[in-house]
Amino acid sequence: MNRYESILKDVGLKRTDIRLRMLNIFMNSEIALSHHDVCEQLGDGYDKVTVYRNIYTFVNKGVLHETPNDGRSAKFACNLQDVSKTGAHAHFICEICGNTFCLQFRNSSELSLPGNFKVNHLSIVAQGVCSECDKNEKY
Ligand SMILES: [Zn+2]
Ligand SMILES: [Zn+2]
Repeated sequence: MNRYESILKDVGLKRTDIRLRMLNIFMNSEIALSHHDVCEQLGDGYDKVTVYRNIYTFVNKGVLHETPNDGRSAKFACNLQDVSKTGAHAHFICEICGNTFCLQFRNSSELSLPGNFKVNHLSIVAQGVCSECDKNEKY
């Protein structure tokens, strides 16, 4: 059993070719991907509706999460292994290419919360220029 097959097994999903390919695409991408991006990488021969349904199946099973985006389309990324329990990680959106990156979030306890406030979900979005765009300096 490969890595992707064991992920499907762990979350109780049936092993299908498209799910394995989608996991491969998401887990090897350093940026968050839209439905359109995934369909492009899958190439011809895959039903767009099936891709769409599987994205949300993965979200429901905690394999993927929806990330903030540049306002153009919903984007999704793999849940980072060691933050999946708290969900605490930050996102970086590049203002030039629009790519969204998941960032490890070292310490979520540094927020100064008034007494008795409890954080259930923490969303931090950084915006700026990614290294690729910075390198190109075309803007
Ligand atoms: Zn960029
Ligand atoms: Zn993320």
